Amino acid sequence: MSGPDSSSPSDVLLEVKDLHVSFTTYGGEVQAVRGVSLTLRRGETLAIVGESGCGKSVTARSLMRLLPPQTSKIRQGSIRFQGRELTGLTEKQMREIRGSAITMIFQDAMTALNPTITIGEQIMEGIIRHQKLSRSEARKQAVEMLELVGISNPESRLKQHLHQFSGGMRQRIMIAIAAVGNPSVLIADEPTTALDVTIQAQILDLFKLLQRKTGVSIIMITHDLGVVANIADRVNVMYAGKVVESGTVDEVFQHPQHPYTKGLLASMPRLDSDRNTPLQSIPGTPPDLFAPPKGCAFAARCPLAMEVCADFQPDTTSLSGGHGVACWLQDARAKQMVPPNANTFIRSAIG
Ligand code: SF4
Repeated sequence: MSGPDSSSPSDVLLEVKDLHVSFTTYGGEVQAVRGVSLTLRRGETLAIVGESGCGKSVTARSLMRLLPPQTSKIRQGSIRFQGRELTGLTEKQMREIRGSAITMIFQDAMTALNPTITIGEQIMEGIIRHQKLSRSEARKQAVEMLELVGISNPESRLKQHLHQFSGGMRQRIMIAIAAVGNPSVLIADEPTTALDVTIQAQILDLFKLLQRKTGVSIIMITHDLGVVANIADRVNVMYAGKVVESGTVDEVFQHPQHPYTKGLLASMPRLDSDRNTPLQSIPGTPPDLFAPPKGCAFAARCPLAMEVCADFQPDTTSLSGGHGVACWLQDARAKQMVPPNANTFIRSAIG
């Protein structure tokens, strides 16, 4: 569940409501996404952040219907893009949307792109397919795209293959390929995770440049709160297949309300902190999504857990400024419950 949303309907480009996605495995059914709702507005960057396995990438791939059809299933929910419901579209209809209206960038260009074909052919293929241009026109546009993403000598580099580029340059090429159709939405799944800090900053700057030039809306999937702080306008924090906190980056980072968000922030290095102060970590591990807990999924790790938390899932409470939190601590009905059990790590994060 996401928090409240004050955007007008005309601002909203993509709207996901109560999305449930599961996978069939030899061990049973994994409920990877359990009721996610989110809204993406025109021209903004929305970050989805959380630990590995929290469902953020599955959510992103569901939007593009890029999950394996044999083993995955959208069990419930709605995905509306520019008012059009995507969940019922055929694969052929989805192919028209993928690569033009909504495109995706992945962590590793070497597996996402074709290392045996020149980058010129790969960029031109998308231009010819979606814009129906001639080869010479497509080539001209491919050169312009490489220039835009900061590849020098683009004419000659069109003839090269991926292995002839550095990791950062490969990400630039993947961004160029994703941007050729002038998409409305760009979904980036951990696009800077494999890069060193300097190159990471350059790639994030490139996303911002692209957004300024084209107005594209971006969904940034990341486990890195530094990336969120650098690039996003709003953030959805996910835990165990659910959105537990959402709002503007300023609001969520400065006034986190969910104990999990507080724990994540407490584990993040800060420029103004004493270098001798050890970083804190969140004890325990996420729940088994083969058999998700009946109540709050964070209860086993949460030092503020109350009796109600074990038995009932919290609703999302709307705070001011579009800030939403799914936690019983925000719910007036929980006030009569057993007092929280004080604990050092969350207590220090709360301040
Ligand atoms: Fe902790 Fe309860 Fe809030 Fe879950 S609902 S985060 S267990 S206080």
